Amino acid sequence: MNWDEYSDWGKYIAEWGANYHKTLADQPVRPETKPGDITAQLPASPPDNGEGMDAIMADFNAVVMPGMTHWQHPRFFAYFPANASPPSMLAEMLVNTVAAQCMLWQTSPAATEVEGVMIDWLRQALGLPEHFTGVIQDSASSATLSAVLTMRERSLKFTGNRDGLSGKGHLRIYCSDQVHTSIDRACWVAGIGQQNLVKIPTTGPHFGIDVAALKKAIADDKANGYIPAGIIAITGGTSIGACDTLGPVLQVAKQEDIYTHLDAAWAGSAMICPEFREAFWEGVEGFDSIVFNPHKWMGAQFDCSVQFLADSTPQLNTLKIEPEYLKTSGEAVTNYSEWTIPLGRRFRALKIWFLIRTYGLAELRERIRNHVHWANEVCEKIGAIEGFEITTDPILSLFSFRCPGDDDTQQRLTDAINKDGRIYLTQTLHENRKVIRLQVGQFDTTRDQVLMAADVIKDVWKEIQ
Ligand SMILES: *Cc1c(COP(=O)(O)O)cnc(C)c1O
Repeated sequence: MNWDEYSDWGKYIAEWGANYHKTLADQPVRPETKPGDITAQLPASPPDNGEGMDAIMADFNAVVMPGMTHWQHPRFFAYFPANASPPSMLAEMLVNTVAAQCMLWQTSPAATEVEGVMIDWLRQALGLPEHFTGVIQDSASSATLSAVLTMRERSLKFTGNRDGLSGKGHLRIYCSDQVHTSIDRACWVAGIGQQNLVKIPTTGPHFGIDVAALKKAIADDKANGYIPAGIIAITGGTSIGACDTLGPVLQVAKQEDIYTHLDAAWAGSAMICPEFREAFWEGVEGFDSIVFNPHKWMGAQFDCSVQFLADSTPQLNTLKIEPEYLKTSGEAVTNYSEWTIPLGRRFRALKIWFLIRTYGLAELRERIRNHVHWANEVCEKIGAIEGFEITTDPILSLFSFRCPGDDDTQQRLTDAINKDGRIYLTQTLHENRKVIRLQVGQFDTTRDQVLMAADVIKDVWKEIQ
């Protein structure tokens, strides 16, 4: 392909993208694809001779698109949002075009410096104090793994990487039973082990960690010769939006000199609205590490996960490695690959810059406020359907409910709703019962689209009686 053809197809695809978005609300959120449907339409072997873009694009439209779930659909209420706002998409086109590796300042000076400034813009936007710096990672899972490795090394006086872990004793990490599985997996691969991830029950209206039980678990562990290495708190759990009370958790951590990490992957974006900070963010300033995903609710195209660090030294002491071929001479600079596990890095800060400049924080806040407001409205409508029960009240824009009947009925209703195609949502387990969860957060959704969810649920419920 030559660059003139690239330019023509680039224009075609930009136009295709605009049409896709303009007509998305008329499509079902999920396709009716069955496992194997797409594979059956693809040639089993690669072509020997090249094909034209016409043929490739025709197959994309005929084979691929009918098998896609539409995450940008205004009636996507499942999981959490993965918003790709138009300015962030444009930034990604530029990043893909320049295709630089941003591992060192020298390999991408502008990308490094834009990243530093964007981290600081986001720090201010989320109401964090000035001492926080940070780094943009690919995912919250990677940021949490970096934090867990730092917990491990700090508690072993930075000897684990050198010596390996055998004979070092049992490290313990504490969290509530509402955390995301990325925390379990971080403990697996950091060599800490599932058994040493201590999950504490929750209490209160936001299902926060029981601080007295946390204190007791740490004291018991110390008495039994375990080494407390870290506490991981959560603001906005994936299942029903659980939020720890951060101040009291930190008090325990400071007393025991334990490293702390806060997972706010989803809910962090809502903290650009100052009115949510009192209920969900109080005490955040004392954490050692905080992760939030602008690629979820804020509108930055995947992937884009920000890890804030109160002091970057422990993480650098854990992850930094500097072979001769990566040394650069000259003045002291930030080399972000020393803060993370992968060496190669994309220029992820550009989409944050485009996003925040296009909308301004005021408009981004407005979107999130609307989502929270509409979630409360649709929750009320669903609660009013005969026999339906709201099982967890909205925490920000996420709530859960049950229809009359047993767990199998909840699953049957969820499946029937998703087969209907007008909306998409998923189930979870809460207090040992199956519940249906609904979150509002799609970037361009409207009040009508959100309220329609209650009508669809009511219709489908009638149909399956
Ligand atoms: C989505 C989510 C994660 C995982 O995020 P990735 O960026 O996909 O790794 C972790 N924690 C919470 C609370 C989440 O909502």
